[in-house]
Amino acid sequence: MRPRQTFLRLPGREIMSSTLFTHALVLTSDPGRPVIEDGAVVVDETMIAAVGSTSELRGTTVDRIIDLDGDILMPGFVNTHTHLAGTITRGLVEDVTTGEYLERIWPIEALGIANGWFGAGVRVAMVEHLLAGITTANDMFFDPSSTMKNAVEMGFRLLAGTVYLDFPGPDGLDPAARMDELGVLLDEYRGHPLVQVTVAPHGGYTVGPDHLESIWRRALADDLIFHIHAAESKEEDATIREIYGRRPVEHLGAVGVLGERTVLAHAIRLDDDDLDLVADTGAAVAHCPISNLKTVSGICRVDEMLKRGIRVGLGTDGGTASNDYDMFSVMRAAATLGKFVTQRPERFTARELVAMATIGGAEVLGIADRVGTLTEGKQADLISVDTSAPHNVPMYDPFTTLVYQAGRSDVRLTMVRGEILMEDRRLTRVDVGGVVSEAMAAGREIGRAIGG
Ligand SMILES: [Zn+2]
Repeated sequence: MRPRQTFLRLPGREIMSSTLFTHALVLTSDPGRPVIEDGAVVVDETMIAAVGSTSELRGTTVDRIIDLDGDILMPGFVNTHTHLAGTITRGLVEDVTTGEYLERIWPIEALGIANGWFGAGVRVAMVEHLLAGITTANDMFFDPSSTMKNAVEMGFRLLAGTVYLDFPGPDGLDPAARMDELGVLLDEYRGHPLVQVTVAPHGGYTVGPDHLESIWRRALADDLIFHIHAAESKEEDATIREIYGRRPVEHLGAVGVLGERTVLAHAIRLDDDDLDLVADTGAAVAHCPISNLKTVSGICRVDEMLKRGIRVGLGTDGGTASNDYDMFSVMRAAATLGKFVTQRPERFTARELVAMATIGGAEVLGIADRVGTLTEGKQADLISVDTSAPHNVPMYDPFTTLVYQAGRSDVRLTMVRGEILMEDRRLTRVDVGGVVSEAMAAGREIGRAIGG
């Protein structure tokens, strides 16, 4: 194993406001200059101030120099679709159909909200994200206000918002109360540097056309991402066909809620017309291959999407559907599945997958002007990855190493908005032991509540 990173801390400064990373293999996700060998990055306060070679930038005056000794330095991963709170029930209902799963999990969710178990799920999921090098997540779950508070406390970048259903959810809120909830969230977080408010109607089969339309109008008026499950399960497909006589994405198009702010989670059951519709409207897709395979929902037609210029990012989905938050395994699944489905080994290159997991996700969420690449002027959301672990050597192509060999425990440093939140596998802001104990305690309570 390689020695620990060497640090040079200049004396006399209490607050770290600028950092110079040197001797890194910099993967920028910026097509203009994708790879910089023996590269360096300067972070000033919250921003990336310079990207170049170590020899170019070594004289920069900073508070701290971090010599990465050949490790990869790259943008943090962007998780385009997840349900953080659901982490607290992961592994509880397994090996069943999606319909059976929902039937069993919803009553537990109601209990979870009543008993306050979900906060523990959010916190352990955010810790897991930071340890895995994921710097942004697009969340969909009840009680977004407390999820946002947790994100601010942890320094994590979060998109989250009101989850809409036609009927009262497990939190007891009806549609009118949810519009009020959205107003409160916007008052508190408009312009926040880490938290971005979204609207998150659950799906086209749980939210009727008029309701969807009113949420869409709100998204337009307040410039919000419209995050919705679309064309995921067989049950959803059958329900929408039966009620509206349309395929799920065709239905969303007919209602008028497809556009550049729309993030379609899963988007599996699309025929060619649906694909054209998504491309024409500029909607984006959160591709969650591990969740789709595990729930036997189907396979997203990513190759056809990319050919049509549709924006596609990667997502883990929530802990209840796919258990963990590991973008390395999601990249690997997306690559191998894409190759197999197209029967073309030259498709879905490792370089494309790393781009999809970083800048691709940022484009899907409409935040590519701020994050997703290591580019001067962007927010400093970045990670370092150990290149000297036995499973990562020898390394001929860093993208291949990242997608097919590396794992989340190889992430050595996670920085969000210029602040190091994880270093040498230790979180700087959070008492991980406390978060883990809290999640274990909630798990025991849930087990007792359901008679397990
Ligand atoms: Zn989902």
